[in-house]
Parts: sequence; structure tokens; C-alpha cells
Amino acid sequence: MIVRGAIRWLAMVLAALVVVVSCRPLPPAATLELSASTQVAFPASMTFKILARSDADVVKLRLHYKVLRQNFAEVVSEAWPEFSPSRSIDTQWMWDMRRAGLPPGARVQYWWTAEDAAGKRLETNPTEVAFDDGRYRWQSITVGAVTLLWYLGDRAFADTLMNASQQALQRLERDTGAVPQRQVRIYIYGSAQELQGALLFPQEWTGGVSFGEFDVIAIGVAPSNLGFGLRAVPHELSHWIIGQMTFNNYGAGMPVWLDEGLATYGEGPATAGYDAMVENAARTGILISVKSLSSPFSALPDQALLSYAESRSIVAYLIQTYGRDKMDHLLDVFREGSGFDDALKSVYGFDQVGLDVLWRVSIGAGVPVPR
Ligand SMILES: [Zn+2]
Repeated sequence: MIVRGAIRWLAMVLAALVVVVSCRPLPPAATLELSASTQVAFPASMTFKILARSDADVVKLRLHYKVLRQNFAEVVSEAWPEFSPSRSIDTQWMWDMRRAGLPPGARVQYWWTAEDAAGKRLETNPTEVAFDDGRYRWQSITVGAVTLLWYLGDRAFADTLMNASQQALQRLERDTGAVPQRQVRIYIYGSAQELQGALLFPQEWTGGVSFGEFDVIAIGVAPSNLGFGLRAVPHELSHWIIGQMTFNNYGAGMPVWLDEGLATYGEGPATAGYDAMVENAARTGILISVKSLSSPFSALPDQALLSYAESRSIVAYLIQTYGRDKMDHLLDVFREGSGFDDALKSVYGFDQVGLDVLWRVSIGAGVPVPR
């Protein structure tokens, strides 16, 4: 019968259709793909580029980034690049580094998240990018915890500065117990001017600076001015390692005389100039008190120089008279966030006023009569 036949025919067609449908390969799953890259234009900007493709319109695209620094509070920032929803997007987000305040060599970790109209989401693996100063052709050498990068001067110049850094580390370990817990990078710029060109807010006199939280040091040393480098490298390296030892979450620092005293002590055997300055000030009765030296030093060059020389002398007095373990202990106490006088008293049994008297006696200076 035609009707019956038609039904049977229809059933056959349907069965075939089912077979056809079930046998046809499945359509490819909606794929969402991301390809990220970065471009650093030191010191102005860091650009994060992203290519996104999917079978459905990509509707959300977000950059997540954080600056890698020694910090108890981890801050992840977000940025949204401009784009119109599409199956293929090529866009970017530019970070104005003039506002970021990062030193050369700072590291940033970033990742992207995306979502398409079909609800598919994707997150890229975290990647690191260094805010490197690409205006110069850096060479580098690494010994232990120290990587030294330079672009002007020969290998012997860099080796000499590296040796100075290694001697400073040995001296600090021997006399204060401080040992590096992380790696540090020391960027040697070819001059003070070129260093200042890499810094956001350089002081006119900035010859070197330690960015402790970033494990970065930047110093301007012309190969013709090696003598300055031989003091500046150990000095800034000492700041870095002491900062690392005493970093705490309380925001409490160390007295300036201790920080600068250790850094100046780290430079090596006293230069005749420092000693003469302290002797002269003692003889003429113009020594600055230990307590006054706990605050930032004077901007007047003569006063500033005397402040460094005295700080070095005070630290040398503490190390030579009371030994390495006490200094090690003192740095530990500062990590716990102690006040200046309390820290000194708990380790040495005297406060800054007491230290002032003992130190003056040790260098043969008169003790000022309290008024
Ligand atoms: Zn210093």
C-alpha cells in the first residue's frame, strides 16, 4: 500500500538520517585561544599585547599584573584593553611607567583572562617581564648572589667591581652576620648623568641607589672613575643586604647612623679622609650627636660628609668593641620592629645618649656637658 509503503519509506529515511547524523563527525568544539606578548620602552612604558581568537565573539579580555617585590601585601592590578567583541581581536594595553615608579630591572608578573559569547573562559599562565633599560647593550657576570650588569668599560672593569662586591659581602658576614638571602642585580650605568636618566626622581647628587624591595641596585660609574665605583658598589650592596635582614612589616626603620654607618663600613678599610674628618670635628667641638644622626642627614655637603664619617666611626666602635654577634642581634631586633633606643638597650644595655658618650670617649673626644 502506498500509505504503508510511504510510512515505511519515511521510517527508512528517518533511520538513515539518524545514522547519517550519528555518523557525521562532531563539529569542532568552540576554541578560545590567546597569544600574549610584551614590549618594554624604558623608561616610558610597558605594553602588553594580546591576540584572541574564538569560534564565538570574544566579549571579555582582561590583563592581571603584579610587581614582584619584597612585600607582605601582594597587590594584583587589572587593566582592560580597548576592543570591540569579535572572533579575532588584536589589541594592547600600555602602562605609563612614568607613574609606576619602578626601577630598571624591576619584574612584573602578568596573565590574561578572556571569555567568549559561548561562555568559554581561558586564563593564560603567569609570565614574567623585566622592565629592562634597553637603551644600552648590557653585559653581565654573576658570582654567588650578585649579578653585575654593565655596558661601558671592558671585562676587567666589571671584574674589579665584582671583586669589590664579593669583598663587601665577606666583610659584612664576618662583622655583622649578614648573608644574602636572595639574588641582587647591580646595574652599572656609564655615568651619573646616564644613571639619573634612568630614575624617576633623581637627586642631583645621586651616584648610586639601592631599591631593596626589588633586589636592584643602580650606580653610575664611568670606567675613568673606578675609585668611586669601588666604594659605591660595596656601599649600595651593604644597604641592600642590611635592608634584607631588617625588613619588617611594621614600617619601622633603623636609625640613619646605623644604616649609613654599616654601608660606609661595608666600603672597606677607613679612608684617611673619613678618619681625619671625625678627628677634626672632635678637636673643634663640632661633632654631631648620635641622636641627631638618627634622622636624615643634612643637605649641606660638609655636614652630610661628616655625618657619613661619624656614622662609620660609631658602627666600627660597636663592632670592634662588642663584636659581631651583638650587631647581628641588633639587626634582628630591628626586624622585630623595635624603637631605636629600646633596640640598643636590649642588646647593648645603653641607649643613643649612652652610646654617644661611650663612642666620644673611644675616639678621645670631649663629652659635652648636659645642659
Ligand atoms: Zn648610603
